[in-house]
Amino acid sequence: SSGAHVPALVIGTGYGGSVAALRLAQAGVDVHMIEMGMAWDTPGSDGKIFCNTREPDYRSYWLRTKSKAPLNYFLGFPIDRNIPRYTGILDAEDFSGITVYQGRGVGGGSLVNGGMAVTPKRENFGAVLPSVNAAEMYDIYYPRANAGLGVSSIDPAWFDSTACYQYARVGRKHAQRSGFPFVFVPDVYDWDYMKQEAAGTVTKSALAGEILYGNNHGKKSLQQTYIARAKATGRVAISPLHKVTSVAPAAGGGYTVVIDQINTNGDTTATKTVTADRVFFAAGSVGTSKLLVKLKATGALPNLNDEIGKGWGDNGNVMCGRANHMWDPTGSLQSAIPCAGIDNWAAGGAFAEVAPLPTGIETYASFYLSITKNPNRAQFSWNAATGKVDLNWQTSWKQPSIDMAKTIFDKINSKEGTIYRTDLFGTYKIWGDHLTYHPLGGAVLNKATDNYGRLAGHPGLYVIDGSLIPGNTSVNPFVTITALAERNIEKIIATDL
Ligand code: FAD
Repeated sequence: SSGAHVPALVIGTGYGGSVAALRLAQAGVDVHMIEMGMAWDTPGSDGKIFCNTREPDYRSYWLRTKSKAPLNYFLGFPIDRNIPRYTGILDAEDFSGITVYQGRGVGGGSLVNGGMAVTPKRENFGAVLPSVNAAEMYDIYYPRANAGLGVSSIDPAWFDSTACYQYARVGRKHAQRSGFPFVFVPDVYDWDYMKQEAAGTVTKSALAGEILYGNNHGKKSLQQTYIARAKATGRVAISPLHKVTSVAPAAGGGYTVVIDQINTNGDTTATKTVTADRVFFAAGSVGTSKLLVKLKATGALPNLNDEIGKGWGDNGNVMCGRANHMWDPTGSLQSAIPCAGIDNWAAGGAFAEVAPLPTGIETYASFYLSITKNPNRAQFSWNAATGKVDLNWQTSWKQPSIDMAKTIFDKINSKEGTIYRTDLFGTYKIWGDHLTYHPLGGAVLNKATDNYGRLAGHPGLYVIDGSLIPGNTSVNPFVTITALAERNIEKIIATDL
């Protein structure tokens, strides 16, 4: 409530925020988490909490009146549909040169993501986080993160036989025929549950196309892991549909935090002010960067350094589809949870997830989300005229990603005698180069903060999310975000409290 004082306030309930809340609470600190999205703990009139990718409804998008699917065309036709404006789960946030997809709600990105839980290869870690001791990460914090998130891998024998991974087996065959290593990718999905879905003994979730707008069973989001444990300490309170708009030094010490309470139409219904001894920015790469850039530019946090807003990257995301021959059907039943990838990072700078197209019909398409070593980095800046934060990414900056992805798919196409699909992102458009699922950076570790996430110039303020990572993790990012948060919060608890 307004006027309250809290020892630790956490902005956001994604990976960084959930790790911070759990570990602070275990250390005896009372924590208040502020989350702009909904709680996602109550079923709608259809009995389900989340809607399905095939029928996006009011629950699907964050304050939009039309859906904005990442794959926005099929057979050349636009597939987006009108939806009621609502504080839905997936935010397709538009900047001038890129749309950044993010989860909104208690659990952040863990509500909407594929659950692919990948630890980078150790030889690549130096390029991901150059100032961090790799031995500590691989001996202590990556294992801790993997355990905390509930990561496991698919049973290879089941993979070989189940209809729902026919599409991934086709992906494996084509990768291997072109000489590329094909690797299984761990996930937080409960694989035993998925086996029961395939056997028809439980309610279908991954096998019913549930992913992008939430998953009603099977997937362990942060609500089932870190947040459940944090709540069980009795020291963590969470306020959904509350958005932090300002943080500034308080007269008597600590920080004054201004918070808008919003309704499901996105309108502010109350504005509250609390004081906090410590504030943890865990609003995600975009959310934290937007807040810090604004607070520095408007003088609320004048001592932040000039690294704020810099070093932002898209993890090199680019999508494409390939048209298979009629003898290579990818299956009408496709698990929405990807489980494998093609690794050409060392030779070509690309790691491609073999992704599902869970349309429910045979498409003869292979679909891929590539993570590439794209070197371009963008910057957030305050636009005083609009009162908003801009990002200077340009669509053409995806060209290195396309070139790196082509090191895989040009070769496969040539070997298989196949072509790219041109009907998935518009008419005659091969590359999904307008978006990212993996925003990273904006408050980079050891630059905007010290080597543990303490913000320069304002003691008691910390960054503990994907904005610490300078633009690329070489694989899907959330395990690295979680492991880095585990490392940093351990140091902060030991030395600052
Ligand atoms: P987030 O998880 O983004 O959490 C930030 C939270 O802060 C959000 O809940 C947000 O609503 C809240 N917030 C923001 N601003 C404010 C504010 N001002 N006040 C209050 N609250 C605020 N990664 C993988 O590793 N594997 C995958 O398979 C994968 N698939 C993905 C699929 C999709 C469709 C998407 C969108 C992402 C995917 N990702 C995946 C990326 C992954 O989800 C993100 O990297 C991760 O969630 C980032 O964690 P975070 O802690 O930095 O922030």
